[in-house]
Amino acid sequence: MQRTLAIVKPDGVSRSLIGEVIKRQEASGLKIVAAKLVRMTLAQAEGFYAVHRDKPFFGSLTAFMSSGPALVMVLEGDDAIARWRELMGATNYKEAAPGTIRADFATDIERNVVHGSDAPETAAFEIGYFFNCFELVG
Ligand code: UDP
Ligand code: MG
Repeated sequence: MQRTLAIVKPDGVSRSLIGEVIKRQEASGLKIVAAKLVRMTLAQAEGFYAVHRDKPFFGSLTAFMSSGPALVMVLEGDDAIARWRELMGATNYKEAAPGTIRADFATDIERNVVHGSDAPETAAFEIGYFFNCFELVG
């Protein structure tokens, strides 16, 4: 069993894609063990994406992530990290496999609808960033 952090980013929430994303998660057998809508401050977005602080896209990314509500979730299942990233598709939607969330819905390399942790260590950090142990079910 593995856990991963999933986010429907502000573009996905404002475009009413929450249901579509959750439908795909549930259809794949990933279990939602925590979920909440958050409006991150710029500082909170900067902390979440601290690993990217030296990248040229950091300022724009953190402004975008704090621009409106996002749905943060914890998904659980065998190999959950890789399975969720497979459903998401590649970071650049133009390179994302057909049928993935990003291929189907992203409009821009930044506005790519969803986030997923990329390794067990980042999943542990990212889950702890938003949730405490009492908020994780099952
Ligand atoms: N991003 C961007 N420009 C880039 C690369 C990434 O705006 O050239 C944004 C995009 O929203 C991406 C996020 O920064 O999802 C984090 O980048 P990362 O490389 O971690 O991609 P991910 O893990 O989300 O696929
Ligand atoms: Mg990443």
